[in-house]
Amino acid sequence: MSSRRFGSDAAHSLRGTLHQAVALALVLTLAWAPVAQAERTPFKPGWNLFSPAQDVEIGRKVAEDAERQLPIVNDSRIENYLNSLGRRLAAKAPYEKYPYQFKLVNDRAINAFCLPGGFIYVNRGVIENADNEAQLAGVMAHEISHAALRHGTNQASKAYAAQVPLALLGGMLGSNSVGAVLAQIGAGFATNSILLKYSRDAERQADLLGAQILYDAGYDPRGMPQFFEKLQAQSKGGGMPQWLSSHPNPENRVGGVNGEIEKLGGAPPNYRTDSAEFRSIRRMVMALPAPEKGGAATSSATRSTGRSGRPELPSTRYQSYQNGLLRMSYPDNWKSYGQEGAVTFAPEGGIVDDGRGNAALAYGVIVNVFEVQSDRTGQVTLEDATDQLIDDLRHSNPAVRIARRHERVRIGGLRALSTYLTNDSPTGGKEYLWLVTVLRPEGLVYFVSVAPERDYDNFDQAFQNMLSSVRFPR
Ligand SMILES: [Zn+2]
Repeated sequence: MSSRRFGSDAAHSLRGTLHQAVALALVLTLAWAPVAQAERTPFKPGWNLFSPAQDVEIGRKVAEDAERQLPIVNDSRIENYLNSLGRRLAAKAPYEKYPYQFKLVNDRAINAFCLPGGFIYVNRGVIENADNEAQLAGVMAHEISHAALRHGTNQASKAYAAQVPLALLGGMLGSNSVGAVLAQIGAGFATNSILLKYSRDAERQADLLGAQILYDAGYDPRGMPQFFEKLQAQSKGGGMPQWLSSHPNPENRVGGVNGEIEKLGGAPPNYRTDSAEFRSIRRMVMALPAPEKGGAATSSATRSTGRSGRPELPSTRYQSYQNGLLRMSYPDNWKSYGQEGAVTFAPEGGIVDDGRGNAALAYGVIVNVFEVQSDRTGQVTLEDATDQLIDDLRHSNPAVRIARRHERVRIGGLRALSTYLTNDSPTGGKEYLWLVTVLRPEGLVYFVSVAPERDYDNFDQAFQNMLSSVRFPR
């Protein structure tokens, strides 16, 4: 914040005012055209190397991988319900008509994700925490929008293009090369974050298009912001997944969706909010057995149940990890978990239940990308970007304090900043967060190494080793 250039901002805002005047004149002219729904925010899929049919091919491949790792609930009544609700919504999604399919994951964390081509997974936590069908439909419409707008393969296209000269791209994407491309950008489910790593703008698009889909399907679109507000209320007091998830700034999202709902004119006539079927399905979901131990990835299976349990010490042998963003090593008795937007490295027992049914990282390292808001010159310093990230974290986690700010370090040969924070540990007591940030073309790449204060010294060396192993692609 400190190094903002006010002079150039002022010059730009004058020019900005002129642009706005011209734009306003255009809008006023267009507003005379009596077109229904002319005001809803328009979207279209971004640049993509793949065909829509290849989206389905990729999605199916990654879905097989995902389903080997996730505790999928096999209950035909629940699955039929999710699919009939999902397809009713997807029928209102624009562009390609994908063969949407919906499955329930036996995980109490409030999360859902979508693979290219419309393979959508909803955690039981979403249904258990939704007050009515419109709220569940809001989450599903958001995920459907990611598929319709092809956000996953748009990300993969950008990652691939960054590695391959443009001249080669046409020739290499023949009909048989999808597997080869995926292998090159590391797009399996477990280690992959590219297909699920959406930009903040993509999340905004999915929110707004999701609200439009809800409206067009006859649901109360306010179910979506209501669910966001509910998540926000639940994360007060410091739940790690919320504040480091790919869905930051819930306040902004609520405002954005409410703006779109205003453009739609509120709820549609004879709108639907709830159904008897939803209530009966929710009862069934709540009665499902707890997730089985020994599962993987985003399941609750890896969480330790005790709030005082302590994972074993990090091994001094390391294994390597690679995604489109970087390469790094981590202790060979830890696991890597790819989630929507983030990679988490944690020991057995390092992910705990925060007491409200959310998975919280008590021991481990998170790597993620923060989308920086730059000024009008498009420039931002590493210090400013890091401050934005810390503001964002503190906003949703009032207990976060800065212990030691902005020391210059190097990571992967690049200039980086090291900051120490404290927070309430989900295991009780305080925890240390070691935050390291570096500016990359993708945004502000950040590493958060976390352990309870009383145990931090036992993990510090592993954190240091992991950070010094980081290499970025050229
Ligand atoms: Zn999303």
